[in-house]
Amino acid sequence: MSVIELEDVVKRYQNGAETIEALKGVDFGAKRGEMVTVIGPSGSGKSTMLNLIGLLDTPTEGIVRLDDREVTDFSEDELTEERRTGIGFVFQDFHLLPMLTATENVELPSMWDTSVDRHERANELLRRVGLDDRVNHTPDQLSGGQKQRVAIARSLINEPDILLADEPTGNLDQDTGETILEELTRLKEQENVAIVAVTHDEQMLDYTDSTVRLVDGVIQEVTRT
Ligand code: ADP
Ligand code: ADP
Repeated sequence: MSVIELEDVVKRYQNGAETIEALKGVDFGAKRGEMVTVIGPSGSGKSTMLNLIGLLDTPTEGIVRLDDREVTDFSEDELTEERRTGIGFVFQDFHLLPMLTATENVELPSMWDTSVDRHERANELLRRVGLDDRVNHTPDQLSGGQKQRVAIARSLINEPDILLADEPTGNLDQDTGETILEELTRLKEQENVAIVAVTHDEQMLDYTDSTVRLVDGVIQEVTRT
């Protein structure tokens, strides 16, 4: 069963007198333990799709389902909670806070949670991404690949169902990008998380379970690998 699902989703933006149809009836799903990659030219609707999956925006028409529940049925509090704990985000430019150590960066999204030892969980996640010896380093003391591994650890701190990755290898050289893709492949199974990635990186298609090609707001092709 898909943890996140889009059914016949249309998204329109009003730009003055002009209406832009960014998504024109998109069907999409991703399961836990699976990596789905969305590719397509600039302006094809990839960010729009990622925003809908991340519950950061709502569709004009169609249905978004999270764990088989229509997102329109969620209360505002439930939505806030899902955004905070149900979904982890990884970005091209890492989005780490420069004055915090690796551990503190990883802990940050769980600050509100008093039920767990956040510090211990953050260090455990950093161990899992191979950064045991970098926990007290600040971002400027880390390489690009290490920064992205801190960001990945941070995205998992609240045990999300979905990890959204926007060009996760976009700022890394090819070899480092490959190690990050290997890391994500391992973690999607270990953490039983659905990874939805947007990319221009062709090398990413060697790691993904399925590739969705978006052209002008329409899914043109789905390839399973
Ligand atoms: P991609 O991520 O593939 O580059 P986007 O989802 O960003 O594509 O954009 C799809 C289309 O929707 C483009 O034509 C873009 O200009 C338009 N668009 C995106 N966001 C907005 C917005 N907030 N307001 C108006 N038009 C938008
Ligand atoms: P990775 O493949 O994990 O990205 P690199 O091979 O790029 O690692 O870096 C090797 C080592 O050099 C790292 O352990 C890191 O501590 C250090 N290093 C790399 N880039 C920087 C940087 N910009 N500033 C400080 N240290 C760095």
